[in-house]
Amino acid sequence: MKNRTVAEPYKIKMVEPLKVTTRAFREEAMSAAGHNTFLLRSEDVFIDLLTDSGTSAMSDRQWAGMMLGDEAYAGAKNFYNLEEAIREVYGFRHVVPTHQGRAAEHITSQLRIRKGQYVPMNMYFTTTREHAERAGGTFHDCIIDEAHDPACEHPFKGNVDVAKLDKLARDHGAESIAYLSIAPCVNMAGGQPFSMANLREVSAWARERGIPIIFDATRAVENCFFIRQREEGYQGRPVARILREMMSYGEGCTVSSKKDNLRNIGGFIATNNEEFFTKAKEMVVVFEGLHTYGGLAGRDMEAMARGIREMVDDDYIASRVRQVEHLGRRLVEAGVPIVRPVGGHAVFLDAKRFLPHLPQDRFPAQALAAALYVDSGVRAMERGIVSAGRDPRTGDHRRPKLELVRLTIPRRVYTNLHMDVVAESCEALYEERDAIRGLRMTYEPESLRFFQARFEQV
Ligand SMILES: *Cc1c(COP(=O)(O)O)cnc(C)c1O
Repeated sequence: MKNRTVAEPYKIKMVEPLKVTTRAFREEAMSAAGHNTFLLRSEDVFIDLLTDSGTSAMSDRQWAGMMLGDEAYAGAKNFYNLEEAIREVYGFRHVVPTHQGRAAEHITSQLRIRKGQYVPMNMYFTTTREHAERAGGTFHDCIIDEAHDPACEHPFKGNVDVAKLDKLARDHGAESIAYLSIAPCVNMAGGQPFSMANLREVSAWARERGIPIIFDATRAVENCFFIRQREEGYQGRPVARILREMMSYGEGCTVSSKKDNLRNIGGFIATNNEEFFTKAKEMVVVFEGLHTYGGLAGRDMEAMARGIREMVDDDYIASRVRQVEHLGRRLVEAGVPIVRPVGGHAVFLDAKRFLPHLPQDRFPAQALAAALYVDSGVRAMERGIVSAGRDPRTGDHRRPKLELVRLTIPRRVYTNLHMDVVAESCEALYEERDAIRGLRMTYEPESLRFFQARFEQV
């Protein structure tokens, strides 16, 4: 027999009951939430695919670690365990814990970007760009063009286009580039990986010009799994080894522990740059807490340390990525338009092709996410014109080419039957797509508007 089923390499020890609701209930809840899935109460959601951030199920070993918290103000044992796990798994010498990823980005941006400098990224991420801009930097997109085409089947759509970097350096000088911010499994492109070959090329380019690479290594392990699956020379290699090689091309990284690290909270900066480490330690005290806890309890750091070791288990990561693939395959078979190939943490519905009757100003992805909740109690999120925000110079909406609804799969939380329910709901909506109406924004926060904006149906 070929293609035997591979089951999850864990079993369920504790369950959390879910509330089953009616369509009338969900219509009212969605309208009360201003058609923004971020404003729903979690208890009113049946399958929560809003994000994979902080939503992982911890292992019994992580929970056991929670009981071993050394809640000392300074020098907690758990900090040293965390430091050791990061040194071993990521390979960087120095560690500064933070309460979550954006705090690591805040400190890194403030210390490493001078006003007027550019920060090239392989596509923007909301908080990463926000912190770069607050530090006086300008985000510069350097991802390959294929990443902006949701139908393109390129296996490494997270790749950096070195010609774009080169043009930036020629136009403004290499010294105008603060650092390269390279993200594995690029979230905004649909969870798309870069190849090791591309990273090697980028690294050589950067080294020649004295420009450091600082990874946003929040979703690195899924990228490593794709390298192992798709890139020549990496078949059968443990993801732990692939991750060490990947990180070896960077000076350091910022990480949100709420993703790869299988944690509900936490983040860190890891670096080999002594001077930056010293300054980051000084700054973390002002914004987060002492440099041996960075806004985290000892027990949190212990669970992080254990999650960091578990995330590079080959069977676990294979099962994680395969579940995402399972949902993607079901949608493709039903003819529902999604971003191809399916990424590492999420399946993205292509709202532009799903709802061709809605112009981008009517927020098609926002409307589709709202309709999905009303249909089945599945919570997704918009990744399109609302998330992109406004251009600070012109004040107009940024109009991203991609107008997506993200179905993000939490780690170790749902079964494939849950995924089937999601697929069937998307399929039902696709059959009735003409009935989905556009939205008008009635409240718009100044920054990161997608979190709290409110809408009404047109
Ligand atoms: C989640 C995320 C962040 C921000 O981390 P938080 O822990 O949410 O503050 C930064 N970069 C990427 C790629 C992320 O996915």
